[in-house]
Amino acid sequence: MTNTLRFYDRALFRLSRRELLGLTGMLGAAALAPPLTLRRLLAKPIFGAYPFSMGVASGDPLPDGVVLWTRLAPKPLDGGGMPPAIVDVGWEIARDAAFRTILQTGTTLARPELAHSVHIEVAGLDPGREYWYRFHAGDEVSQTGRTRTAPPPGAAVDRLRFAVCGCSHYEDGYFTALRSIAEEDFDFVVHTGDYIYEGRGDGDPLDPRKRQHLGGELFTLADYRNRYAQYKSDQDLMAAHASAPFIVIPDDHEVANDYAGDFDLRGTPPELFALRRAAAYQAYYEAMPLRASALPSGSHMRIYRRLQFGSLVDLSLLDTRQWRARQVCGGGNRTDCPEALDPGRSILGPEQEKWLFDNLADVHARWTVLGQQVPTFARNFGADGVGRFWMDKWDGYVAARNRLYSRLLEAKTPNPIVLSGDVHQHFAADLKLDFRDPRSACVGVELTNSSITTNGDGSDVSTTWERTRADNPHITYHSARRGYIACTATPATLRADFKIIEKVSEPNQPVRIGGALVVEAGRPGGSVA
Ligand code: FE
Ligand code: CA
Repeated sequence: MTNTLRFYDRALFRLSRRELLGLTGMLGAAALAPPLTLRRLLAKPIFGAYPFSMGVASGDPLPDGVVLWTRLAPKPLDGGGMPPAIVDVGWEIARDAAFRTILQTGTTLARPELAHSVHIEVAGLDPGREYWYRFHAGDEVSQTGRTRTAPPPGAAVDRLRFAVCGCSHYEDGYFTALRSIAEEDFDFVVHTGDYIYEGRGDGDPLDPRKRQHLGGELFTLADYRNRYAQYKSDQDLMAAHASAPFIVIPDDHEVANDYAGDFDLRGTPPELFALRRAAAYQAYYEAMPLRASALPSGSHMRIYRRLQFGSLVDLSLLDTRQWRARQVCGGGNRTDCPEALDPGRSILGPEQEKWLFDNLADVHARWTVLGQQVPTFARNFGADGVGRFWMDKWDGYVAARNRLYSRLLEAKTPNPIVLSGDVHQHFAADLKLDFRDPRSACVGVELTNSSITTNGDGSDVSTTWERTRADNPHITYHSARRGYIACTATPATLRADFKIIEKVSEPNQPVRIGGALVVEAGRPGGSVA
């Protein structure tokens, strides 16, 4: 493990002469002190406060390893508060929460280029096992995280439990759903995006309970970093990360509302929007337990990837934002948008689509799970028979949806389960080759998670839903309350419990099961349990 002296020796050694002078200037009297004294004095100034202010996380489990994440930030809301220097961070991973049997230790470098975040790709672990990990920097020790490796490749697995969640608007309420996820000790958690929201502070300053975004709308790297820091200061969010590995994909609000490829909704020149997306993606990478393969290059980032859990679950994570064609017909809900039917329109982009379609013909697991952002199922908002559809979802990319569903049939992909979020309501839907025809072939089931907080408390009754229910016979479950989905996969069934939070405007509110859907392997479609 990194000892304190070595830590500061090396931290100082890596400072250039100019940086050293700058630091000693900041320290006042220390500037005149001999190096040894300076070294001692630096111990506190480097970490004027606890550096592990955003907790710890793990992610993207493999059979032999997992990514461990933390970020040093003694002043999290104000750029992090670290000196412009490289700092040693020690890590250790153990069999037990008390660290009696430590299996591996190491030291990595937290660099200012990545806001002193670290991403350790641990290898050499056993498959399908629980582990505990923590970090050290200087004299400080991080919180302890629990994680779990994936089962052995191809092995029979009796049961996997995973959560599906997303859309945590800090101003809209308390992250009780994440606290509940923390208490369930899942095998893994799929986060479908909208981890942060990019808008300016909008809360009511007279309401002491109301949580407010700090700062204005996010544009620069510093803006995005501070916003992640604010969200990550939430104890419920930290607890969720410390409880299980997260498998994360960003949606639109990690960058800008409803963006599509190189275009936002404001008509910003694409070459300028690319600068904003580059800043947003870098901050996302810095804040998430992602592998180095996801390190952004300019305004692009490799988000789509595949993870396997024995012979039970084959999970492809998709990116439906970065490569999609521009929004048509002005976004929102539209009647009659012939452009949405253009066969040239793609939501995945040709490269990712080919990658996915190749995967879909090569699944050897019982359940094929597609983790992605926006609903693929059609939602007809028109009670008049004409139809109004969501232009920001797969509804705005009809040909791409038809290609995906046809591919699932043609490749005989086993038991497809599509995950989505983004719309701040729970849905379960049978996926139809032709949603206008209830007798059309069912290609799989979609589970859409409501929000962790976005849109506030919600209610059991939704007038829009009640009015359009008859036009959407493929939708088998709906709730307009906040929450997450707890999935239990076995070789015979996949069960989705739709968890509901009574209220998010107050902390510590009860969580209950609002409804459940069961999908039987080999039988298309889900039934409400
Ligand atoms: Fe959202
Ligand atoms: Ca979204």
